[in-house]
Amino acid sequence: MAYVIPPPPVSSLAVEGSDARFPVHRIYCVGRNYAEHAREMGGDPDREPPFFFAKPADSLVADGADFPYPPQTHDVHHEMELVVAIGTGGANITAAGALDHVFGYAAGLDMTRRDLQAAAKKLGRPWDTAKGFDHAAPCGRIMPAARIGHPATGAIWLKVNGELRQNSDLSQLIWKVPEVIASLSTLFTLVPGDLIYTGTPAGVAAVQRGDVLEGGIDGVGTIATKVA
Ligand code: MN
Repeated sequence: MAYVIPPPPVSSLAVEGSDARFPVHRIYCVGRNYAEHAREMGGDPDREPPFFFAKPADSLVADGADFPYPPQTHDVHHEMELVVAIGTGGANITAAGALDHVFGYAAGLDMTRRDLQAAAKKLGRPWDTAKGFDHAAPCGRIMPAARIGHPATGAIWLKVNGELRQNSDLSQLIWKVPEVIASLSTLFTLVPGDLIYTGTPAGVAAVQRGDVLEGGIDGVGTIATKVA
């Protein structure tokens, strides 16, 4: 195949225990999926069905790489999240069979220009500039489900400059991973290589240049980045 310009590179993530990498197709994200975070954002966790937004695949930042402070904002927030890596695609996947579609899991950060998100919400505009900017998706290496199974419990935490900022447990997810996959697959045909950021617990806050972010999910992995 000849192209008129060089084709963009394939975004990918390292995989624990393998020299081969996980190629990334799309990055989907779930909003307000922990009750305490839904409340801190002014929502009602008891009545909201899951909703989704997306980030470009090339917004990934590898574990240990710098997160460049983005332009056109003065309020960039961290959101520590469990990331699901889809290994087998499909549409209208049932919750009962959903975990068969998962290749593995990772610890990721849904970085957010909160000021632009607040303006978009107020004006009824899309969230792309708030959520889908360059380098908006730091993500750690993928832990294959073949090695660890499918974690439904386990601590999820984030430290900023060594201070604990977010600290919850996967058991607190409102919509569990199988339900998230089932719901998302009614809207989009999932494809091998898709990632799903599953939502953040409470404690989101602004980062500053020079901050060191270190997060982890028990049994899954870690993510570290420095705000540059
Ligand atoms: Mn999020």
